[in-house]
Amino acid sequence: MQNEPGRVAGRHFLQIPGPTNVPDRILRAIDNPTMDHRSPAFAKLGQACLEGMKTIFRTESHAFIYPASGTGAWEAALVNTLSPGDAVLMVETGHFASLWRRMAERLGLSPILIETDWRAGADIAAGEIEGRLAEDRARTIKAVCVVHNETSTGCTTDVPAIRRAVDAAKHPALLMVDTISSLASIDYRHDEWGVDVTVGGSQKGLMLPPGLSFNAVSEKAYAAQKTAKLPRSFWSWEEQAGPNATGYFPYTPATNLLYGLREAIAMLHEEGLDRVFARHDRHAEATRRAVAAWGLETQCRVAKNHSSSLTAVRVPEGQSADRVRAVIRDAFDMSLGNGLSKLADRVFRIGHLGDVNDLTLMGTLAGVEMGLGLAGVPHKTGGVAAAMAYLAGQAAPGVAKAA
Ligand code: PLP
Repeated sequence: MQNEPGRVAGRHFLQIPGPTNVPDRILRAIDNPTMDHRSPAFAKLGQACLEGMKTIFRTESHAFIYPASGTGAWEAALVNTLSPGDAVLMVETGHFASLWRRMAERLGLSPILIETDWRAGADIAAGEIEGRLAEDRARTIKAVCVVHNETSTGCTTDVPAIRRAVDAAKHPALLMVDTISSLASIDYRHDEWGVDVTVGGSQKGLMLPPGLSFNAVSEKAYAAQKTAKLPRSFWSWEEQAGPNATGYFPYTPATNLLYGLREAIAMLHEEGLDRVFARHDRHAEATRRAVAAWGLETQCRVAKNHSSSLTAVRVPEGQSADRVRAVIRDAFDMSLGNGLSKLADRVFRIGHLGDVNDLTLMGTLAGVEMGLGLAGVPHKTGGVAAAMAYLAGQAAPGVAKAA
């Protein structure tokens, strides 16, 4: 039988930095009859998800789940802990940090912005964070907000360095961290690193479709609700905590996504979180080797800040990153991330997070190398070969190399 016109064979390569490919096992878990969310069976599911998320955040305090995109969990972090006019210190590492700042302004907070060149993590500003906090003798700054993995630039922040800066200033501000594109991809420890509120989303390292977002909350942040005066209702942690204690939610939860979440958490633990992080590190290194061999530059210019979940690649002056992406989409049915706001058309972003293995990555890099050629972008060949040599030389953990 002939294919229908327009049918493209094979599976689409979804290599944007989230949403990521949803593994069949998770799709199968979601593909079940929607259950009664007030039933005893649901309580088991709710509890498994709420407790399971604590193991992903690496926290023993509170975890909350919202039927919302990541933006909702950003809002929840702010409105549960802060009051109108509160100063919040934010580091503008890229597009997502600037969106969070804009949200803070709209909510009536007073962000103090530390700007960067969008080519490093927020830890580049650790000294300035410490200085601003030390100067704040009246303790008007109530929170320090950073993005762990800036999805627009491919730069990761050293969160413990930010914690040390806050501690060095002996300042009581809450530390809030956005892990939307790093959770379950890049090492993260909510408790050990002394984070007060962590924000996460379902559609990246957790390998789920978009639609769920999360907060992990320290006891100090949880207690801040008592004095926080920003209006809140849907996002209120207190409203959730009551029903959550027995596995329920104060509203109709996204039942089928929760089936998927329970499966995703199980899969991450079957692989082992440390192995998940090592896999992402390894794929990111292979990708950077390809980029270097092409003679192109990554947007991230600080080696220790290189992201393990995505790589933003700068195109040479006079070239269009959007054209490269369009050529690759049309020729190879692969989606890459676009450049956002001031990086529009300057970078394309290769997502290598979530359910990715060596051959997924090699297919992705082959598509990029062929696409650079088809789009006429001056580059050297050999990126795919460089990545392949690295992956073959650095066998995945547990794979024995021939003597
Ligand atoms: N923060 C980061 C780092 C992100 O990558 C994104 C989305 O990609 C967001 C926040 C916003 O999340 P959402 O689009 O799910 O609302």
